[in-house]
Amino acid sequence: MNVILLGPPGAGKGTQAKLLEQQRGLKQLSTGDMLRAAIAEGTALGRKVEAIIARGDLVPDDVVVGIIAERIRAKDCAKGFILDGFPRNVAQAEALDAMLSELGLKLDAVIELGVDENILIGRIEKRASETAGGPRADDNAEALKKRLAVYNEQTAPVAAYYRSRGVLRTVDGMADVETVNRQIGQVLDRARAA
Ligand code: ADP
Repeated sequence: MNVILLGPPGAGKGTQAKLLEQQRGLKQLSTGDMLRAAIAEGTALGRKVEAIIARGDLVPDDVVVGIIAERIRAKDCAKGFILDGFPRNVAQAEALDAMLSELGLKLDAVIELGVDENILIGRIEKRASETAGGPRADDNAEALKKRLAVYNEQTAPVAAYYRSRGVLRTVDGMADVETVNRQIGQVLDRARAA
């Protein structure tokens, strides 16, 4: 199955994607994790995106589209993938559609984690204070506000894009981790049966 998890920063996409990896053998493809790995390794790509990410802006579409194009055709995605953090704007969603049709693949579900923004800010502040090795460079109040604004401007229309295609399902992202996981599981089971 091929799945997209949508939701603002701190909505729990990464946590849920990791659970689905274990439960369903799907591969999590987190553009945020991949970009952070590139920064940690000091690659040319990492140096190019470091400042952009630290201030909470989106990196250029061609960068993430290129990364995803390569990853979705890799062997470890044979059972399917969970996109986490991609697509983040409508242009990326359109690029994904083109890649999928070229590969003869389809999306089984796009799951939006519905959240309350005020609670999110608390979650991310908590994550920033607990992360081993110090907080993520973009887990500070300023960058977070920027990431939420970018989400509302650029990523919220992605939900509308998939809603109009009839593949969007919304799950209550404010429930506890297990409940959210169970609800996502139900959505995926229904999608598989369809
Ligand atoms: P968040 O916790 O904000 O959802 P992510 O780990 O998904 O964070 O992404 C962190 C940062 O990496 C983003 O703020 C952005 O700068 C960059 N990034 C990740 N995915 C994309 C993407 N698909 N398009 C553009 N930028 C991206």
